[in-house]
Amino acid sequence: GCSSEGLATALRAAAEVIAEHRDELVDLDRAIGDADHGENLNRGFTAIVAALETQLPPTPGAVAKLAATTLISKVGGAAGPLYGTAFLRASAKLGEAAEVDSALLVDALRAALEGVQARGKAVGGDATMVDALIPAVSAAETAAGGSVAEVLTAAADAADRGAESTVDLIPRKGRASYLGERAVGHLDPGARSTALLLRAFAEAAR
Ligand code: ADP
Ligand code: MG
Ligand code: MG
Repeated sequence: GCSSEGLATALRAAAEVIAEHRDELVDLDRAIGDADHGENLNRGFTAIVAALETQLPPTPGAVAKLAATTLISKVGGAAGPLYGTAFLRASAKLGEAAEVDSALLVDALRAALEGVQARGKAVGGDATMVDALIPAVSAAETAAGGSVAEVLTAAADAADRGAESTVDLIPRKGRASYLGERAVGHLDPGARSTALLLRAFAEAAR
């Protein structure tokens, strides 16, 4: 299982990965958006790390809630509120549990996806972060009998493939949708960042 400290460690690992990939995410967003996705996420995850330095919330749910409120308050644009909602819904699902086991993790991932879809109205095939999240949640459900690390690794593997699938899609949501068919051939930045975040969580859980 994963404790409050375990989730905090995973978020610090995620912040490092986002910092390492900041320029890549900016470049992806430059091609089909406004070149700020890497900056937006780096600002948000840097703020999460700073918030965790002043306080370690008592439960994984409370850690997820701190991440959510930080992302919502520090990250503008589309992705901040969407990732914020994902962490907020995950937090609500985690409740007061002291440890996150595989079954609870799968429920939290499902809730995160539902939150993103409720907020952003994107469905599979719209070339957004949802195209990474849908297969990730399906793979997590299939792997639910395994360890937390196995569930997250399955989710990250599926998210990588899902993110790649956005290259061939016409964006239907967000700024990239303004380009229509001209956006075909480009990887969606939010799908890429979702895959990076899940990989960071999976590595941290090993
Ligand atoms: P902005 O487009 O406001 O500059 P970002 O660049 O930070 O925000 O994030 C862009 C990413 O947000 C896109 O690559 C896409 O994955 C995601 N996104 C945008 N709109 C939606 C939506 N309605 N539903 C799901 N994801 C979305
Ligand atoms: Mg942008
Ligand atoms: Mg923007």
